[in-house]
Amino acid sequence: MSVLEKLSSKEAIALEERFGAQNYHPLPVVLSRGEGVYVWDVEGKKYFDFLSAYSAVNQGHCHPDIIQALKNQAEKLTLTSRAFYNDMLGVYERYVTSFFGFEKVLPMNTGAEAVETAIKLARKWGYEKKGIPDNKAKIIVCQNNFHGRTISIISASNDPVATENFGPFTPGITSIRYNDIDALREALEDPNVAAFLVEPIQGEAGVYVPDDSYLTEAHSLCKAKNVLLIADEVQTGIARTGRLLASCGNCSCADKNCSGTPEVKPDILILGKAISGGVFPVSAVLANTEIMEVIRPGNHGSTFGGNPLACAVAIAALKVVKDEGLAENADRLGEIFREEMNALVKESSLVSLVRGKGLLNAIVIDDSEDSSTAWDICMALKNNGLLAKPTHGNIIRFAPPLVMTEEQLMECIRIIRTTILDFEAGME
Ligand SMILES: *Cc1c(COP(=O)(O)O)cnc(C)c1O
Repeated sequence: MSVLEKLSSKEAIALEERFGAQNYHPLPVVLSRGEGVYVWDVEGKKYFDFLSAYSAVNQGHCHPDIIQALKNQAEKLTLTSRAFYNDMLGVYERYVTSFFGFEKVLPMNTGAEAVETAIKLARKWGYEKKGIPDNKAKIIVCQNNFHGRTISIISASNDPVATENFGPFTPGITSIRYNDIDALREALEDPNVAAFLVEPIQGEAGVYVPDDSYLTEAHSLCKAKNVLLIADEVQTGIARTGRLLASCGNCSCADKNCSGTPEVKPDILILGKAISGGVFPVSAVLANTEIMEVIRPGNHGSTFGGNPLACAVAIAALKVVKDEGLAENADRLGEIFREEMNALVKESSLVSLVRGKGLLNAIVIDDSEDSSTAWDICMALKNNGLLAKPTHGNIIRFAPPLVMTEEQLMECIRIIRTTILDFEAGME
């Protein structure tokens, strides 16, 4: 049996079941090719991708500019480690800091690593700049957050599936209700708080959009108590919500590519996923010098963090976001999508609401949280040529690549509409 044999979907799934850890429950579709908003399975069936690898593929699958940058750099130099300088890292650091309006960046690879890095940075800042007594630093987080899968990060999680039998957990974490400014105010009374870590929209939890004023108020409360606001924009960042960053989505400035005025700009910004257009694992922690300078040589690191391949890919991926106006497109198409879904909500007895921003949206299926209805609808959508995945029970997240055209979106809306209405008719 050759290693490069051509597999059927069934065979590929069987291999994963036989040889892989079963830490995911994928939709039974086996993809072998992607281009723009489309993916193809091994049998050649074409689908609209309405997940975009959890918003990593905002620029569309295999974007030619990003792939070219990857190829060019792969032929020159891929990894030096940070034991030596390389000729791409500085160029990337200048690019990414000016792109998002921060003075410094700390490059990592995955989202979880960047969150860990931000927590370490905030704690160290807390001891060395704020004067928190040794080992007393606290990080405030929100209930139903998703920040990744390391021990420290799941220590901040209240999802039993993500935490059960993984203890003991990391201390120093206070959990409050999301979108509850009074809960934050109260938690900030503790003088040992170093940072408030928050998602501008809770994506994994089911695309929960907080009140318009939430982040701005949270930031000013934090400022008053000398506490850092850490925005985890691994999923919401990079044009997904119709702005370059979701954390500045409520700013009055009309520039969709602006990364925030001081009132709304977080003290520490965490990016991952789409910073590489889904081509390569790249993540980043951005902050100004007065915060980042507490990290000195030897304090933190990563063999692959800041590697030349990642730098070349990330520069190309960010260029695409600006060149192709992805924030504007997400903003415009998002309005159309929610309008059409709201019409469906009126017609359907199964879909109870749609919520979201830009092209990060979710519909809620009017059913108990542990029913299989959302999963069954996703299976029907798959059969009709559109791939989406339930998140937290009865919620379906819709997050297509941001390079989608209005015409393609309308076709997708037709698929979603007829699938759901047919599904409903079949239930009666
Ligand atoms: C995906 C995600 C992470 C974790 O990123 P990984 O690359 O999977 O480690 C962290 N925070 C948020 C908000 C995410 O959506």
